[in-house]
Amino acid sequence: MLRLKDGIHFDLSRTIVADARGAVGDVNVVSHAHADHLLERASTGTVVCSAATAALAGARTGADVEFVEETDGILLLPAGHIVGSRAALIEEDGRRFLYTGDVSTRDRLSLRGFEPVPADELVVETTYGHPDYRFPDQRELEGRIVDWIADAEDRPLFLFGYSLGRAQEIQALAERATNRRLVAHGAVAKMNRVIESVSDRRFSAVPYAEVDELAPDDVFVVPTHLARNGWVNRLADRLGAAKVGFSGWAVDESFRYRGGYDETFVLSDHCDFDELVDLVGAVDPERVYTHHGFDETFASHLATEHGYEAYPLRRNQRTLGEF
Ligand SMILES: [Zn+2]
Repeated sequence: MLRLKDGIHFDLSRTIVADARGAVGDVNVVSHAHADHLLERASTGTVVCSAATAALAGARTGADVEFVEETDGILLLPAGHIVGSRAALIEEDGRRFLYTGDVSTRDRLSLRGFEPVPADELVVETTYGHPDYRFPDQRELEGRIVDWIADAEDRPLFLFGYSLGRAQEIQALAERATNRRLVAHGAVAKMNRVIESVSDRRFSAVPYAEVDELAPDDVFVVPTHLARNGWVNRLADRLGAAKVGFSGWAVDESFRYRGGYDETFVLSDHCDFDELVDLVGAVDPERVYTHHGFDETFASHLATEHGYEAYPLRRNQRTLGEF
């Protein structure tokens, strides 16, 4: 039995719950620190996650939660999405369930892509599970971003990315491109510090709080949700800065207008459509459950084009017998 409630519930001999806001399972899997709510309230069951996820989630929620990195019948596999992100392979009575969490099979900068393993049942995230979302070659894209930043020497730059994950990739690319001073918004700087404490990554960016004033030569790394923020935009206007957005959604022209960006790049920490299809092929499951984003589109593509039994997970719907 598989249910989408608050998180994804595997009702096996014990209840295994993945990425829920409350720790309601006998075992609670936290795939990565974007899903940071669980650790706030974990009280009963075992929490399974990577040490990096525990540290990052703890820094975001302020909670110090006990966790294990593996437990009987549950194996965590690097998911290639952000630092510490893990897929979970659950095994019971010889049956294998693979839960991907957010996932990328592409190697990106310091992150190795997810390596799919065979399973009987696959629960896969389908954020970009629509054929419109095909991403450029990663190496070529990284090269283009580095060149663009290097060529923009005459302008202050505001680079926008989610504070955990994208922002660190952007910093790595900016460090490769230029010797200009990098300044990190507080939310980004906070994640930088935690990542430094759990890995060998080091960031040269100065926290914004330690800067008297942004200089015309600075490269400022800002969380995406501030792209339309008044303070950020007044600052960008005053400095004559170029605003640059990085996201898989940059495939859509509207992404540029919604964020008010001068330039955008299709830089994502998820699989694109083709990579999702390849991932399913490599896992080769009997049954596929899709969730997030284009869950219906992708499930129906798998069924009609590839002959898989595939279903979008629906809230509070039991998977067997209700389809
Ligand atoms: Zn995520």
